[in-house]
Amino acid sequence: MTAHDGLAKDFHGLHAVVTGGSGFLGSHVCESLLARGARVTCWDNESTGAEANIAHLLGHERFTYRLCDVAEPLPAVDRADVVLHLASIASPLAYGRRPIDTLRSGSAGTLQLLELAAKHQARFVVSSTSEVYGDPQVHPQHEDYWGHVNPVGPRAVYDESKRFAEAAVVGARREWDVDAGIVRIFNTYGPRMAVDDGRVVPTFIDQAVRGLPLTVAGDGSQTRSLCYVDDTVEAIVRMASSDVQGPVNVGNPDEYTILELARVIVGLTNSSSPIEHVAKPQDDPSRRKPDIARARAALGWEPTVGLRDGLRRTLGWYLAHSSV
Ligand code: UDP
Repeated sequence: MTAHDGLAKDFHGLHAVVTGGSGFLGSHVCESLLARGARVTCWDNESTGAEANIAHLLGHERFTYRLCDVAEPLPAVDRADVVLHLASIASPLAYGRRPIDTLRSGSAGTLQLLELAAKHQARFVVSSTSEVYGDPQVHPQHEDYWGHVNPVGPRAVYDESKRFAEAAVVGARREWDVDAGIVRIFNTYGPRMAVDDGRVVPTFIDQAVRGLPLTVAGDGSQTRSLCYVDDTVEAIVRMASSDVQGPVNVGNPDEYTILELARVIVGLTNSSSPIEHVAKPQDDPSRRKPDIARARAALGWEPTVGLRDGLRRTLGWYLAHSSV
């Protein structure tokens, strides 16, 4: 059995509502659900998503796209078997610029989508985040760790909206009997991350390809564990087809310093770009690595794509879609 064989479920005959479906992660989830036979309704306000991400799906007979905001009254659906609430502004740069929208998609949006799931007796999954652990004092991070979040810092709007979303799931389970699960997604990268997204992988790839200095924050000793998007999507789809409550960490436990990552990207792109150390953002977590024992046990899942392989695929997409 490969790591991805366990719960590979057929979604034929099922209707999935995916919020944030034209975003980086959401567009890959829509694709995967369609490939497994689902009818997919995709909602997105294109705050950070873009129709270009799902342009190739628009003609599909089982795919419907609707521009809408999850914090506003939702469109009606005839039925829903699965509700995946992925809509969120996930880049620190972007949520720093749009704090209220970030809060609203995690709070009002999550409550509305839980209501929708309750009404249709649908399976519900929310994309939470490793940011619920804040700047963690426990390493690696296990789901039982409660985190170390600054509730009034620059990252609070994202972290607290996701912590609210998790609490909303717990409340809706208790009061509305919703079959709801939580995935805590760690840093994910891959094709369709916008070049100006601000997150580290698209930024470094763009800088390296253009021969510009790679802007490493601080001394670059802070770590991240980067998961290729196909692996993350597989975990989300497995979660959707299970009754696992979670929270379940979804991430690749291979941990790198940001300086190491910069060097790997310079090497892969054969770039002559230098490293330039820039100011580290306030509250930037110093270490991050998921403990994925629960995902292995509950979902039969583990990542299969290594960093260099994933970066190569991301670079290929970037070169095919950029003007460089
Ligand atoms: N980072 C960096 N240079 C950049 C962008 C990000 O050194 O141009 C660092 C950032 O400070 C953080 C890490 O890379 O330590 C990951 O940042 P990202 O915004 O991708 O995601 P985060 O994990 O902080 O949400």
